[in-house]
Amino acid sequence: MGIRTVAVVALAGWVGWLLFHGVVRRKVPWVGIAVISVPLVLLFWTERQWISAEREFSAVARSIAPGSAGVHCQRMGEAFVYASGDLGRVQFDENGRPDGPAMITYETCQRLTEYAHESTFDRMSPSLDLVIAVHVLSHESWHLTGDGSEADTECRAMQSDAAVAERLGATPQQARGLAETYAAAVYPEMSSDYRTSDCVKGGRLDLTPDDGRWP
Ligand SMILES: [Zn+2]
Repeated sequence: MGIRTVAVVALAGWVGWLLFHGVVRRKVPWVGIAVISVPLVLLFWTERQWISAEREFSAVARSIAPGSAGVHCQRMGEAFVYASGDLGRVQFDENGRPDGPAMITYETCQRLTEYAHESTFDRMSPSLDLVIAVHVLSHESWHLTGDGSEADTECRAMQSDAAVAERLGATPQQARGLAETYAAAVYPEMSSDYRTSDCVKGGRLDLTPDDGRWP
C-alpha cells in the first residue's frame, strides 16, 4: 500500500469522523469538510489514473512475459526517495526468478502515458525521451520472462519496441520508426554491459533470423 492510499484512507476517515460528530452535535463543520475533501478527491482521482495506467502497461508486459506480475509505476513519494538512475527495474529472487512486478520510474510512466494518449506531439516524430520510455517498458517486460542478462534483454527488447509501441496505440509505420530511432540513436550509446556483438541482423539474438528485418 502506497503513501497515497494511506493518505486517501486517512483523509476519508477524517471526513467521516467530522461528519459523524457534526451530526451528533447537530452542527456539521461543512467548511472544514470541504477543505479536506479537495486533496482527498485529487489524490483519489490521480491514484485511479495511475492504477489504470499500470493495468494498461501490465497488459503490454504480459504480451511479452505471459503470466508475469506486470508493471508497477512509481508514485511521487517513491520517486522522491529513489536514488538510482535506472528507469526501470525487475528484482530477481534467489532462484533467479522475477520477484514481483517490474518497477518503472514516475517520470518514465508519465512519458508512457503521454505516448499512449498522444495529445501534445506527433507519433511520427516522438522525442527521444518518449522513445526511451517505450523501450524501458519493452526492456523490463523481457526481464519479467526471467532473463537477468542486460545485453540479451536489451537486444530482445529493441526488437520488441515496435510491437510495444503498437500496443500503446502507434500505427505500424510509427512503431517501426520508433524502433529504428532507438536502434540508431540510443543503443550504440548504451554502456558495454547492455550491448553485445550478437545483437545484429541474423545473429544469435535475432528473434526472427529469417525475415531480413532489423531491429
Ligand atoms: Zn535491464
